[in-house]
Amino acid sequence: MIPSRFVSLWPLPALLAALLVPWLPGMPAFWVTLANYTGISAIVAIGLVVLTGIGGMTSFGQATILGLGAYTTAVLSKYYDVSPWLGLPAGLVVTAAGAALLGAITVRLSGHYLALGTIAWSVGLYYTFANLDLLGRNDGIPGIPPLSILDVKLLDGRASFSVIWIGVILAALATNNLLDSRAGRAIRALRGGSVAAASFGVDTPRARLLAFVYAALLAGSAGWLYAHMQRSVNPTPFGFYPSIQYLLMTVIGGAAHVPGALLGAILVTTVNDRLQDILPRLFGARGNYETIVFGMLLIAVLQWAPNGLWPLIARVRPRRRPIRPDAARLPLRTMPPAGSALLEVSGLRRSFGGLVAVNDVDFGLAAGEIVGLIGPNGAGKSTTFNLVTGVDTPNAGRVRFQGRDITGLPARGIAEAGIARTFQHVKLVPTMSVIENVAIGAHLRGHASAIAGLLRLDRAEDARLYAEAARQLVRVGLAEAADRPATALPLGQQRIVEIARALCLDPVLLLLDEPAAGLRHHEKAELAALLRRLRAEGVSILLVEHDMEFVMGLVDRLVVMDFGTKLAEGPAEQVRQDPRVIEAYLGSVA
Ligand code: ADP
Ligand code: MG
Repeated sequence: MIPSRFVSLWPLPALLAALLVPWLPGMPAFWVTLANYTGISAIVAIGLVVLTGIGGMTSFGQATILGLGAYTTAVLSKYYDVSPWLGLPAGLVVTAAGAALLGAITVRLSGHYLALGTIAWSVGLYYTFANLDLLGRNDGIPGIPPLSILDVKLLDGRASFSVIWIGVILAALATNNLLDSRAGRAIRALRGGSVAAASFGVDTPRARLLAFVYAALLAGSAGWLYAHMQRSVNPTPFGFYPSIQYLLMTVIGGAAHVPGALLGAILVTTVNDRLQDILPRLFGARGNYETIVFGMLLIAVLQWAPNGLWPLIARVRPRRRPIRPDAARLPLRTMPPAGSALLEVSGLRRSFGGLVAVNDVDFGLAAGEIVGLIGPNGAGKSTTFNLVTGVDTPNAGRVRFQGRDITGLPARGIAEAGIARTFQHVKLVPTMSVIENVAIGAHLRGHASAIAGLLRLDRAEDARLYAEAARQLVRVGLAEAADRPATALPLGQQRIVEIARALCLDPVLLLLDEPAAGLRHHEKAELAALLRRLRAEGVSILLVEHDMEFVMGLVDRLVVMDFGTKLAEGPAEQVRQDPRVIEAYLGSVA
């Protein structure tokens, strides 16, 4: 196993040394060419790590996007005498514009439909390449000028090698930076379910589009490198089969890991090359037999190493980042005066088919209160939470917050208003550490763009977000667990991590859905003490809970629901005496 601290430093020394390899004496030109194709593929595959491995969107059209970059620079440098170096920014503009357009249509689709969408436009673009006179139809564009530095033309494979592999290094570094930034965490948060991400203010369609455009920009750069290395372009390498190969590299290498993309590119390019040599000799005829072999390879990897090969050879741990306790604190909201009306729910209704899950429910919560929402399983408590937090939309009724009508706002708007929540079914991102998960809660308190993240111009702000996440972990008593993978914690503690994430939003109102479930006795006592402290600091809390003992000593008031209807509301002791409550709630528990 490669120790993780070397993995985190892997790109620089290893790849800088690799830049010198072609000049080793006796290095066959053939291997250099193969390494060049590998590098170009690796850049595409690194983009797919972000899009598919991390963002969860499968693209069967990445080779076509490569074509956009390649044809742009080919046309400009051959027919318009534009310097090949300017072909890169031009190609990136074309790719970004194309990807934004294609992405705006496709990324809103989900699952298989999204994959089918990418096939559709990639086939369309492929035939466009093959039929436009300007692009030379099926013959393509020959005689593309090579890159040159100070009149020295980079003609041979060794010179291309340096340019290509510097490109690989830059792509890997930029991607590492992106993934470790506010925008990158938003993309990674898509894996925890877009509901959770949206509940902390992540614009999820935008995060998906960002992943799409980013992957396209890498593919476009790879296309530029390809055109000037190959010195000619034609439609074949930008078709469907090459797209599958790029996807295969990402999946085989380790879909969610940047070094995995490199590993996958090396494996697939090498195996492909060998197979094209061996298979025709075995079968005697020309044919795309390698397609069959790759298909079998893919099934084997998905079967035995569904996370790809990289996690098998390197110890993959969430990245660690030192916390800067000196980082300036983020600005805080002004809390509403204690006792003022905070949340007013009236006539709230939601039905699923014939089932009325929430039936004309009214209740309120004043600033500085802890209110318990209790009731038997299926009473409609979580649905009420979803209606208040914009995860679901009511059929009727209104929700007012700090005097403002927030009914029907999307989850992101609710988060902006200052309402944060936890989920009954924990929604943490398994591939992120505890502190990274918590930092997502501070998404709305940062502003750094993806470009700032890529270029590391966001470090001062990001240190503040991280320090805030660390502070909330201390607040909930989980500072020790900061660098552990979130889902390595016991479920009860994962709920506490969700509370820390919610606190990172600096909420006015905190909605907790069964936070004490799965906690041991002393942990429950600590949680109750924490909630009291929060109340003393001005945070108001609406709490769904099953454990009567836990609720009784803690809440100011109780709202009881049964079969979607409010049964009773009032001070805890009084509600507990209510015969209807005893029958419905305690009766059903017994
Ligand atoms: P509680 O949190 O009080 O246990 P829920 O609000 O989760 O209850 O559920 C209330 C009722 O609504 C249950 O009968 C549940 O099966 C139903 N329900 C909740 N969400 C959905 C949904 N998305 N589709 C259909 N039925 C649902
Ligand atoms: Mg529930």
